[in-house]
Amino acid sequence: MSDCIFCKIANGEIPSRTIYEDDSYRVILDLGPAAKGHALILPKSHYANIFEIPEDKACEVMSIAHKMAARMKDKLKCDGFNIVQNNGEIAGQTVFHFHMHLIPRYENDGQKIGWVPGSPSDAELDETARILNE
Ligand code: AMP
Ligand code: ZN
Repeated sequence: MSDCIFCKIANGEIPSRTIYEDDSYRVILDLGPAAKGHALILPKSHYANIFEIPEDKACEVMSIAHKMAARMKDKLKCDGFNIVQNNGEIAGQTVFHFHMHLIPRYENDGQKIGWVPGSPSDAELDETARILNE
């Protein structure tokens, strides 16, 4: 994808603050961090989202997340950790090259990552489970 900014960053055509790199992935600091150390795992190949990335690559991304979470806890002394991965505009995705957010969390960092809880009836939950199991 010649016009994709994360393709260019992942492949080193645009400089970034890289905190991990291997043949297939680059992990960079987010320029608009939710908290100190907020980073993005970028595959060097272009996949728009979770629906496009192959399962084996998705597993590799989670393996890197696992490694980086341990490193951030050790080096940044964070108190918690969010892993966020948005797919589609409606879900908050703004850059349409698959990426996983690694967000170290600190006491009193003032951030709130979450949703408004719903209150479905038992029948609605049963129906949703039925659809997803069929
Ligand atoms: P999302 O909303 O999940 O698509 O996340 C996109 C993220 O990319 C945001 O957190 C932005 O701050 C970040 N971002 C956008 N452009 C750059 C860039 N050039 N370098 C680093 N982070 C970026
Ligand atoms: Zn791309």
